[in-house]
Amino acid sequence: MTAKSTARLLRGTPSTLARLARRLRAGDLVAVPTETVYGLAANALDARACRKIFTAKGRPANDPLIVHIHALAQLSQVAEINAAALKLAKKFWPGPLTLVLPKKPIVPSLVSAGLPSVAVRMPSHPLFRRLLKLTGLPLAAPSANRFGYVSPTTAEHVRAGLGNKIKSILDGGPCTIGLESTIVDLRDPRHPRLLRPGVITRAQLERTLGVRVLAAPSAAKAKTGAQLAPGLLARHYSPRTPVTLHAKLSRAAAQRSPAGEAWVFLAQPRVVAGKNIFWLDANGDLPGVARRLFATMRRVDALRFTRIHVELARGKGLADAINDRLRRASAV
Ligand code: AMP
Ligand code: MG
Repeated sequence: MTAKSTARLLRGTPSTLARLARRLRAGDLVAVPTETVYGLAANALDARACRKIFTAKGRPANDPLIVHIHALAQLSQVAEINAAALKLAKKFWPGPLTLVLPKKPIVPSLVSAGLPSVAVRMPSHPLFRRLLKLTGLPLAAPSANRFGYVSPTTAEHVRAGLGNKIKSILDGGPCTIGLESTIVDLRDPRHPRLLRPGVITRAQLERTLGVRVLAAPSAAKAKTGAQLAPGLLARHYSPRTPVTLHAKLSRAAAQRSPAGEAWVFLAQPRVVAGKNIFWLDANGDLPGVARRLFATMRRVDALRFTRIHVELARGKGLADAINDRLRRASAV
């Protein structure tokens, strides 16, 4: 956490949005709300502006940025489109789906970390959409946190991590989804491949495309520091406190445990209580678990327990996305 924060939390009034759009056009950084997690945005067509993102986050240059657009017409400005991309865009945009496509030369290679491809998404958060429209530009925006730490899902989280690196944070309230977008590689539209699981599931993509979508590289198998695909580090989204994962958390174990260890249940464990007991959703509903996952990890991390025990989600689809983040959080 930073001691002296210079960043201001701003409400999305028309005059503020107009001012932030001018800042973005002038090459400044602005932290923005999205439905997935908060992003740190810059003009995607301006390499100098995007360089500031890497510096502010402490993000390595080999980790490419996602480019956000307001209208479908902007997709062909930044990427080579194909029929599969259009199908998915029409079905899931605006929304939490990122498409990886061959890059157009207008996108600086800094944004794609030197790759010949670019990742593009059309977000649904109304304030971010208004800002995108006002700038008239595609905006590159990775999560607005220090590289490797838990992603921010409130404006306060952004201020806690980057408050001394940036000036403006547009406050759009807590993120409604709370997990980063699903990323699908469509460079070869006949063989789409999931790069990162999210709330839009592989099964949903397969239904829309009518072809098999290859599974995401497994975080469980990944070795520390090894990158299976650009940016897909085994250790990521990590609190400072060591994390241990459990297929099912036992209430008895939580009750016996030293007070210095925290226990994070999926659902409210009605018979155990204590300052070291947490839960992600009262009923264990997965959208609620996803929405509160990062905020809970941050809160528990700040309490300086010696270890955080977390229960894995059960099932497929959204559970895979939640467990992917938990496995990366627990990787050492
Ligand atoms: P985030 O920090 O949540 O914005 O995540 C950005 C992630 O998108 C990167 O870490 C990569 O995993 C992925 N990504 C962005 N651009 C590309 C690309 N051209 N090819 C493959 N993956 C990409
Ligand atoms: Mg990130």
